[in-house]
Amino acid sequence: MTTRPAAAGARPTAWQADGLCAQTDPELFHPEKGGTTAYAKRVCLACEVRIECLEYALANGELHGVWGGMGPDQRKAIRRARDRRRSA
Ligand code: SF4
Repeated sequence: MTTRPAAAGARPTAWQADGLCAQTDPELFHPEKGGTTAYAKRVCLACEVRIECLEYALANGELHGVWGGMGPDQRKAIRRARDRRRSA
């Protein structure tokens, strides 16, 4: 069993071992430029640690790959929306 890479310098967290990506090819979650993230996002939809994963990626500024069913642009949109809410 493999787990997807944690953020550079970040310690692995307990939920990562429960992620469905630990049972799939981690490369699907970090496709080459132009590659599809559709399959990874479908896996995430069924993952029981999806929320933990997404919040981890948001908290650690993950810029690449699929985390919690969302790609970089989707996470960026969430961060911006939260920043706007905080500053309102
Ligand atoms: S939500 Fe997706 S990326 Fe996160 S642990 Fe689950 S399968 Fe892996």
